Amino acid sequence: MRSDPHVESRCPACGARWATLLRSAEDLLADSRWTRDLLTDRLSDEPVMLKDTAVFTQDYRADLLVCRACQSVFRDPSAVPAGRMDRYVTDHYDPAYLDRMWVGFIAGYQRDHPWNAAHGVRAGARILEIGSWFGAFLIYATHHGAHAIGVDLGTEAAAYARRHGATVITAPFDVNAFDGQRFHAVWILNCFEQLSDPGQVLLDAARLLEPGGHLVIRTPNAAFIRFAYTRCPPTLGRRLLAGTNLGGVAYAVSYSTHALTRLITAAGFTGVAVRGREHASPARRAFTSTPLAWQPGRRALYRLASARGMAGPAWPWMDITATRHAEPRQGSDSVTSQSARVTGAAYVRF
Ligand SMILES: [Zn+2]
Repeated sequence: MRSDPHVESRCPACGARWATLLRSAEDLLADSRWTRDLLTDRLSDEPVMLKDTAVFTQDYRADLLVCRACQSVFRDPSAVPAGRMDRYVTDHYDPAYLDRMWVGFIAGYQRDHPWNAAHGVRAGARILEIGSWFGAFLIYATHHGAHAIGVDLGTEAAAYARRHGATVITAPFDVNAFDGQRFHAVWILNCFEQLSDPGQVLLDAARLLEPGGHLVIRTPNAAFIRFAYTRCPPTLGRRLLAGTNLGGVAYAVSYSTHALTRLITAAGFTGVAVRGREHASPARRAFTSTPLAWQPGRRALYRLASARGMAGPAWPWMDITATRHAEPRQGSDSVTSQSARVTGAAYVRF
């Protein structure tokens, strides 16, 4: 442990300069190994079947920091390895794993259809998913009559999506790749937390959306990670993180609700709303297999965490939604994640 927990490191969420050490690289690595051992034991699965549950693409060695200004949690940016995003291009997935995930994801999206429909999944809608992974959301949306297109770096996952009939661009997200198309919804599920310039992606999403179009982001909740590490007994905190895709916190940035709200509003969106959720995955399998299997108890804990002065629901993950203003702001192209610091309280509606 460092003797001085205050670290000079620029926050990727708000650009502030000072952070506090939340978890050292060594401890984070130990959390990651502990999670892998626990879930291997509980789920009786091979490591290939624990991909993105306990085995992560971006588990590079780095301290975990908390921004002193916006309370977002992030991996030390100075520890980011060269070619970090290239890891996604060659990301390998076991076919049996993808088949299992496919079934669970489609069923999960279907269960949540009323909420999804309220955020753009409906017949005739044009939907863009940034980070479409193996295409389950695209095909689910297509089944409901939407015209869905995905963007993803991963060649194996995108090939799987195409085999199921999805349309996927295998390249970095580029606002110019859509030939003047406008969308009714842009969804970014379990991907936003790894983007190197999230402010620009939001501006580009605003540019691609029809006026009043929906933005949906599913991403880890910094409040919960802080709660688990600072307010819970160590073993309980570790278990809570391990059971919710957060063991070892292999995400570049886990945003606080108000930091993400500020980024979103700075990009020209309005009506920001936040919904807490337990997992990134819509599949139900993870729920019954988590270390704390008694779900009412976990939910009570999340409510407790939310009540303890946290800005927004302190569930492990959050769905944050917004709609595009009538017209994008003039000159907004120059705003980036580094400069999108907005003063004053962000408005969060629950
Ligand atoms: Zn910050």
